[in-house]
Formats: sequence, C-alpha cells, structure tokens
Amino acid sequence: MRTYEILEDAGRRARAYCEQIQSRRVAPTREAVEGLSNFDCPLPERSMEENEVLAMLDEFGSPATVGTTSGRYFGFVIGGCLPVTVAANILAAAWDECAGRNVVSPLGGRLEEVALRWLIELFGLPQGCAGGFVTGATMANFVGLAAARHAVLERAGWDVEAQGLQGAPPINVVVGDEVHVSVLQGISLLGLGAKRVARVPVDQQGRMIAAKLPTLSPLSIICTQIGNVNTGGFDPVAEVIEQAREVGAWVHVDGAFGLWIRTDPKRADLAHGIENADSWATDAHKWLNVPYDSGVVFCKHDAAIRGAMAECASYLVAGEGREPSHYTPELSRRARGIEIWAALKTLGRAGVSDLISRSCEHAQHFASLLQRAGFEVLNEVVANQVLVSFGESDKTQRIIRAIQDNGTCWCGGTIWQGRSAMRISVSSWATTSEDVVRSAAAIIQAAERS
Ligand SMILES: *Cc1c(COP(=O)(O)O)cnc(C)c1O
Repeated sequence: MRTYEILEDAGRRARAYCEQIQSRRVAPTREAVEGLSNFDCPLPERSMEENEVLAMLDEFGSPATVGTTSGRYFGFVIGGCLPVTVAANILAAAWDECAGRNVVSPLGGRLEEVALRWLIELFGLPQGCAGGFVTGATMANFVGLAAARHAVLERAGWDVEAQGLQGAPPINVVVGDEVHVSVLQGISLLGLGAKRVARVPVDQQGRMIAAKLPTLSPLSIICTQIGNVNTGGFDPVAEVIEQAREVGAWVHVDGAFGLWIRTDPKRADLAHGIENADSWATDAHKWLNVPYDSGVVFCKHDAAIRGAMAECASYLVAGEGREPSHYTPELSRRARGIEIWAALKTLGRAGVSDLISRSCEHAQHFASLLQRAGFEVLNEVVANQVLVSFGESDKTQRIIRAIQDNGTCWCGGTIWQGRSAMRISVSSWATTSEDVVRSAAAIIQAAERS
C-alpha cells in the first residue's frame, strides 16, 4: 500500500539539506561524487520500499550536490532558491498541474497571469506586454527572436510559419560581439544562421558600440544584451533603439540577469530606455532565486509572439482569455508561475530591490578586498560580476582550481578579452557580508600558496 507518509520524510530531509548547506563544503568531495556509483545498478526486477528509495537518494545524492544554494557559490550566474520558493515547489509537485491550458490548470494560468503582470510592472515594461513562461533565458531568447522573425517577415508580406524560410526575404540579424551563446543558438534554431549575423564591435566592458551598428532595415533584428556574463556590462540599448526606430527594425533584449537591475533604484539607469524595445528575455532561476527551471519572455506585440508560437493559427478564437500555451513552444509543462508568484508575494518590490542591490554591494566588497590584496580586477564592477586576474594565465588557472578544491567557496574561470580570469558572480539571496569576507580570505590564501 502506498501512503503519503513519505512526503513528511521528504520534507524532513529537504529541510536538513537546506539547513546544512551553508556549513558544508561548496563543491562535493571526490568521495561523494564517487558515491554516485551506488545509483548505477542493473534495472531492478523487483520493487523496493519507497522510503528506502528516498533514503538512498538522500544518502548518496545530497552529499554529491554542488552547493549552488549556499551563500558562497559564485560560479557562472546561478542564484540559489528562497525557502518559500522551495516550499511552493514541493506543493506544486503535489499538485502536478499541467500549465499549458487553462482548462487543465486554471490555477497555473491565473498565477502566470498575475506573475506576468507583476514582472511587467516591476521591470517597467510596456503595460499590456505579452509574455510566456519557459525553461530559461535560452528559450526566452528563442521565443523573442521567433516573434521578431514573424513580425519582420509579416511586414514584408511573408508568412514564415506557413511558408518557412525558403524563398523568404533575407533577414539581417545583428548582435554584439559579446553576444551570449544562447542567442546564437536561438538564431541557428530559427534558421537564421548563427554565422550570417553581423557582429558589432564592443568596448572594454563588452558593451556593443552603438556608433558601429551596420545599416539597418525593416528586416533587421538587433539582439542587445543587458548583463554580460563576464563583466556585468550593459549594452547602450537606448541608443540602439533610436537607430532601429528610424527604419522600423526589431530590438530584442537579452536580460537574463541584467533586467533585474531595473528594480534597484541606485543602478536602474544602467538599463535605461530598454522599455522601448520589442522583446525581452529574462531568468527567474538566476537573480529572483526560484528553483530550476524558470525563464520568462516578454513581447510588446501580442500578435507577433502568438503568431510565432501558434499551432497554425487555429488558436484565434475570439473572446478567449490568455492561454499559456499560445506564448511558448510547449503544450504540456510545469506551472512556472507558482514559485515566481510566491517569491514576488514574499519579497514585494522592496525585497526584490534589496536582493539585487545587496548582491551588487557584495560584488563591490569582493572587488575591493581582492584589489587591496594586490590583485587586478579586470572589469568595472557595475553590477554583480567581478573578474579577477592573478597575473599569469597559468597562475590564475591554478588558483581557480585550488579554490574549487578548497571548498570554502566556488568560483569559475573565464577568458576575458584574451586574459585568463577568475569570475565571481553574486546572485544568491543567501550570501552575507561574512560569506564575502570568508571567501575573499580563502581566495587570497589560495593565491599566496600558488
Ligand atoms: C544565463 C544567461 C543566458 C542563458 O540562460 P539559461 O537560463 O541558462 O537558459 C542567456 N543570456 C545571458 C546574458 C545569461 O546570463
């Protein structure tokens, strides 16, 4: 007999995991990773008790996780998860709502609608802007660019969803030289050719130089970026939009984490004017700190995104409310509005703003501690990203490996404009000043020993 007692066991284990993550090593030990072989058994012929299965997951899985929810995980741009979002996610798993259609999940549909409205207001995007809930910024970029492709070709009298790209008027895609790979992937999936794009030169912070944009046309799609994964730099989107407007080109904004800067009054100016773009991509699983996976696409033109995502336009039934599946490529999927709603309801505008500005201040603190110790910070720390060089490339690489092995914190490496660097991204609600001080000390010690 199956009962639901096991959920209490899961709740206890989840709580214990969350409570100890802050004191655990950030990277798992080698033994813990080797322990994953315990999962690798032949396909079971017989059943096993559920609680034993759960115990196995916890015993061998929990120690082998990378502690990305720790306050001292600074790799890539990751973010942890707020306790209320973990709890909401557990409830959401019990609900198992299939969020593609309101008839299957009025709950999922309603929470998405509210979350979308709140996010539009929070970011200062145009009122009545459309949006869809997807896996992450990769898919959000893809959907935004699909809407762009739909719109520019429709203006040229071409129905791309019906006719495809063969024989279509050529689209000119423009990106900054520091474009995120996910945008190029979207371009490639949409048949626009990742290598056919015009690449605009960038400055030392990786920001597109607006004066170097190519000649634009109504068939141009310009992909801008706010929040470079290395420097945290912001493209001059307002200037790009000014040029695009003259010819009626489409402007897309990749704001995977950078869009959140709009909630911090002290730094919102970095992303000024982006509200005049046509489409935007962001992540909730990064800086809002909700569990994976959670990205959001926004599009000023409801008909363009619906046209691009439609299953052959048969969806246009008059008087219909918002159908979640009209704004994403998927039909069956999880109800991502649940955790976003819970995070925004808990934090409020002030709480989100505080989360963003705190992260940026921690990044500045990091930079100043490392500079004071004599190391070079390669970027202007305008947001939550810090790039540090320890001199020679080999030495920088050695120090990065040493800090990852040490376990106090976790930072990754990158190559920034030809130079090897350690990258620090502060994206978690859990990071405290003490975490920064302790991590910087560990980094400095690792550097002195290397
Ligand atoms: C993280 C990131 C992406 C990709 O987002 P996913 O959530 O990993 O799909 C795209 N663009 C930028 C600028 C990012 O930081």
